[in-house]
Amino acid sequence: MFRLLTTLLFLGAAQFLIAQSADLFVPRNIERAYVKGTRSADGKPGPNYWQNRASYDIQVSLEPKKRLVSGQATITYTNNSPDSLPVIRFKMQHDAYRKGSMRDGDVDPADIGEGTVIQRLTYNGRTIGKDKQRRRNTFLDLQLGKGEALASGASATITVQWSYTMPSDKNATRECVCDPTTFFIAYWYPQIAVYDDYNGWASTPYSGTVEFYHDFSDYDVTISLPKGYMAWATGEWQNPGDLLEKTYLDRFNQAHTSNEVVKVFTEAELKAGGVFKKAKQHRFHYKATDVPDFTFAVSDHYNWDATSVEVDAATGRRTFVSAAYDTKSPDYPKVARIAADGIHLMSTWLPGYPFPYPCMTVFNGNDGMEYPMMVNDASVGDRDPTSLTVHEVAHTYFPFMMGINEQEYAWMDEGWASFFDGLLADSLTGRQTGGGRGYSFAAGTDTDVPLMVRSSLLRGRAYGIASYSRPQNAYLTLLDQLGYETFHRCMVAYMDRWKGKHPIPYDFFNTWNEVSGQDLNWFWKPWFFEWGHPDLGVQSVARPEGGDRDVIVIEKIGDMPVPIHLEVTYDDGSSETIHFKASVWQSGETMSTIECQKGKTVKSVNMGDRNIPDTDRRNNTWSKA
Ligand SMILES: [Zn+2]
Repeated sequence: MFRLLTTLLFLGAAQFLIAQSADLFVPRNIERAYVKGTRSADGKPGPNYWQNRASYDIQVSLEPKKRLVSGQATITYTNNSPDSLPVIRFKMQHDAYRKGSMRDGDVDPADIGEGTVIQRLTYNGRTIGKDKQRRRNTFLDLQLGKGEALASGASATITVQWSYTMPSDKNATRECVCDPTTFFIAYWYPQIAVYDDYNGWASTPYSGTVEFYHDFSDYDVTISLPKGYMAWATGEWQNPGDLLEKTYLDRFNQAHTSNEVVKVFTEAELKAGGVFKKAKQHRFHYKATDVPDFTFAVSDHYNWDATSVEVDAATGRRTFVSAAYDTKSPDYPKVARIAADGIHLMSTWLPGYPFPYPCMTVFNGNDGMEYPMMVNDASVGDRDPTSLTVHEVAHTYFPFMMGINEQEYAWMDEGWASFFDGLLADSLTGRQTGGGRGYSFAAGTDTDVPLMVRSSLLRGRAYGIASYSRPQNAYLTLLDQLGYETFHRCMVAYMDRWKGKHPIPYDFFNTWNEVSGQDLNWFWKPWFFEWGHPDLGVQSVARPEGGDRDVIVIEKIGDMPVPIHLEVTYDDGSSETIHFKASVWQSGETMSTIECQKGKTVKSVNMGDRNIPDTDRRNNTWSKA
């Protein structure tokens, strides 16, 4: 590290400013961000770092019988970039259902239609006609022209009125008409796309695979519903006292300080009609600040369990945790407890950073899909919901608290969620449910592509391996390599530096190199930039002539560096565990020689561990003939 940092100080030419990643390939378009000083070689945001910001004031209503979502929004958008913007791009993710949009998978033809219908759109008080609204895939480009371009440093007020019909297909992903009176509503409003320092306007449409990349925004949302419906949403509920009868308001408040799960209401109570006050308007008001998205979910017959958990011992700050679910879901009565216990472990162990949000609701929908403070999780029936619950809740850190560009680098998000869910679920259940073995089957096949290939270019199996199992295994290897203390220190620094911002892969590599005090490029390169697979083999066990101990030779057959983990049994019945970190292969060695205990004769060797991927385990054992 020091060598490279010192070099950096004396390098004037801008293109060499990424000195710390010198042995890692940097695409030319990414290099520009370092030239402009928006990112820096030590992994911190650069002196010229910027990002744009919006605030959304939204009134939305849902007509359940028609599955119709109608909204109007006033959006204030601030251009902090150095560029003037003649185009303002909106993400219209529901346009994945618009006739003519491209889709990665089949959808029910009955759900294909107009997509989002814009009734009215104004920019700084002036109506923008259809001729200036360019619709393409899931984008709406508001074409302002040069004269009206949004200047650097300026803000604009945009109002929009829209509606769309929710897909009827129960298997529609991300959002759902879960039953005729239960809805999970996502991808539902015109949202300003990200304009960033290395791509300009994000241009990957939503076609069913890639997920988040949103700027941090403030939301003030009022949800109008038919009487009898409850709305759970991103953010803090502002008007529970206007809507809940005292008994239920008391339970809601009690759950905010209770470590135990409180039943705010049951299906029977909600159906009986006594939960809500007889108000004229049935409107739910939610607010959230500094979040990259907003979703809500409604039902007129779900149960609501709630509790809370301390997430920051220094301040005593708590997170309010809810599970909203159908009585027919046998796993869901456990979910509020699992989510709260998971959040406690996330705050104190992995990633070991105080949970950033004031609330979290796990909603019994039809998917396994995360949103800020909301999760759409299908019931897993009689199976254990721990892994699914902690996976989706752990996404709070990546991609939400850390504004990951998951559309292009899904491994910066799904890889971490998979890594967390494996280890957290193991800890919560006392079983070994997670682990990295899944990758062993896929590694080194032609759908196991280098992680630095943009996620938006991948589909199906290749997307799955690159987003989930390969990075999960990379992070498991990294944890073993650094040990928890250093790993945690790097994680906290990475989070402190990039919380509420948009880190890219080099910000991750450079931060971990700097904070660990180690040049980890020998690790990043094979795991993130190259084709390859992990495979170690026990090559031989022998006693050299005249020697007093047996020697085990381990061969690195595959290209990826992984730890050596051996269970060695001796003739006298004793045994020992031998462990070497992946760095035994750091300098390109292909053989590693391990000396056993003096005077003892090796009877058998068994290599491997559930968290160490290995494509060929047939060569992992040795027994004395
Ligand atoms: Zn995930």
